[in-house]
Amino acid sequence: VSALTLTGCGREEAAPSADGETAAAGFEAGSAIGVALPQKTSENWVLAEELFNEGLTEAGYDPDVQFANGGVSEQQNQISSMITNGVKVLVVGAIDGAQLGTQLQQAKDAGITVIAYDRLLTNTENVDYYVAYDNFQVGELQGQALLDGMKAAKPEGPYNIELFAGSPDDANAKVFFDGAMSVLQPEIDNGNLVVVSGQETFDQVVTQGWKAENAQKRMDNLLSGSYSSEELDGVLSPNDTLARAILTSVDGAGKPIPVVTGQDSEVESVKSIMDDKQYSTINKDTRALVEHAIVMVNDLQAGKELEINDPDSYDNGVKTVPAYLLEPQIVTKENAAEAYADDETLAPLTQ
Ligand code: BGC
Repeated sequence: VSALTLTGCGREEAAPSADGETAAAGFEAGSAIGVALPQKTSENWVLAEELFNEGLTEAGYDPDVQFANGGVSEQQNQISSMITNGVKVLVVGAIDGAQLGTQLQQAKDAGITVIAYDRLLTNTENVDYYVAYDNFQVGELQGQALLDGMKAAKPEGPYNIELFAGSPDDANAKVFFDGAMSVLQPEIDNGNLVVVSGQETFDQVVTQGWKAENAQKRMDNLLSGSYSSEELDGVLSPNDTLARAILTSVDGAGKPIPVVTGQDSEVESVKSIMDDKQYSTINKDTRALVEHAIVMVNDLQAGKELEINDPDSYDNGVKTVPAYLLEPQIVTKENAAEAYADDETLAPLTQ
């Protein structure tokens, strides 16, 4: 999915039409930029707020950064106000990427460029660019970590596992799951992995709202329903918040700790990894993602064409959204010190 570049792959001629036009317009320095963030479901979003405010201000813009803790309608209202207030670019981390069609049409009518940030905006033509870590690769790394961790703990299979996915209204959740299943499904098919509960489809394993309490409840039910006599070797968890909820449930049931994956490099999870509890997380440095989103805003401001490194992976149901993807990194206890060497908050935890 990643590592495709426009340069040299013969796509330059096709590109300029729609996207070139948006980019060529440019706008005044010092303009207002709207950043609509979802709910504070993980630390990355909280950090993004701070970084967007600082980074956009430093680059000379007038940022309007908003969380929508109240839910979808609050986010819709915030975006409408940003449009009325004359933002030139809208950067959107959606709660539900499919529920902003009306607002994005208003944005389009007002000549605003829309960048989907971290989560794709779906079922609309009115999204110009996408910037994110490679979500499919995140899932692949999680699936591989689950296998590696279980193998290290017990060299021979078969292994009993359970699967968790994120919130179905977040377009990323399915992509993370598909990436992980691209690694795990062949092992399920050949009998090396056994999902004891039998819950294997995305719809069966989602976690509404990315909420810890929902994952914890589901894990409680799985343990009492399927693991009274079976041993649980591993759990695919799509992020750190849910990984810790799963571990809390296992602990409450007095069961041995299984291999549990994660994502986001949250402080409590990095500590848990160093304590041999959570097995892995993913490093998706929020600083680099926000920085690149601001590079995009700068290019738009200057009327330059935006750099795209994945022109054709992200079909949103109506169009393929040109994307700039960053590369995620798997982190376990083994490489944590190296992975977080330049992170002031996390580096000390790995010493
Ligand atoms: C982000 C993840 C995060 C999740 C819950 C996703 O869209 O990509 O990094 O764990 O939202 O906040």
